[in-house]
Amino acid sequence: MTATLPDLAATLNGEFAGLTPLERLQAMVARVDGPVVFTTSLGIEDQMITHLIFSNDLPIQVKTLDTGRLFPETYALWRETEEKYGRRIRAMYPQAEALEELVNDQGIDGFYYAPEFRKNCCGVRKVEPLGRALAGAAGWITGLRRDQSANRSDMDYVAFDGARGLIKANPIFDWTRERIASFTAAGGVPVNALHAQNFLSIGCAPCTRAIRPGEPERAGRWWWEEETKRECGLHVDDDGRPMRADNNRPAEGDAAFERLPQ
Ligand code: SF4
Repeated sequence: MTATLPDLAATLNGEFAGLTPLERLQAMVARVDGPVVFTTSLGIEDQMITHLIFSNDLPIQVKTLDTGRLFPETYALWRETEEKYGRRIRAMYPQAEALEELVNDQGIDGFYYAPEFRKNCCGVRKVEPLGRALAGAAGWITGLRRDQSANRSDMDYVAFDGARGLIKANPIFDWTRERIASFTAAGGVPVNALHAQNFLSIGCAPCTRAIRPGEPERAGRWWWEEETKRECGLHVDDDGRPMRADNNRPAEGDAAFERLPQ
């Protein structure tokens, strides 16, 4: 009898601790029955995974969400990565009509004015394209790390994503940033030039700043908002609601993200 996706996710989660990141990716390809997609933000964690996928010719689709507001350094890294590995990173863009409506409604930098506006912007530029990036996929690879932020600390290596109906795997979940940096340096893996300027977690340019000594890794993301409300909506619970810093429970009464687009 074929295992259900939740059963397979639980099995893989148990096996992942004893495997290397490459073996974890290989296990996803071998065991998940259907397309496996890796969504990269081109951050250092994701560059390590892209390196493993491209260098080992794994049949995993590599896609990125081009919000239109990325740093020039990120676009340069995107090009450099494609040139190094001779592979294309597939771009997902916001829907033109929805983007025009968003900007005309709340202004080009409306995300600074109100949390709802910021969520609207992430919804149009990231969450909706992510839904299309994962459409038809049976497996989703991400570069999440356990120690990135409080709300990621009790996630699993592998889990069934009930909202999207797929298996979500985090193959470098137990790796530290330092270990990843050593890996990329030793392997000649291209990384974003901004990392050397204390931009540890890099997203859209207007919503990312360098962190100061002693600040948590993700403190430079949406820094003007209350700390517990800072996730972008890409990682959601089984009901499709965004994970928050309060042990992954969704935010009650969060109208803008009551249900994320599938
Ligand atoms: S991170 Fe900022 S610019 Fe990017 S989609 Fe979200 S609100 Fe918009």
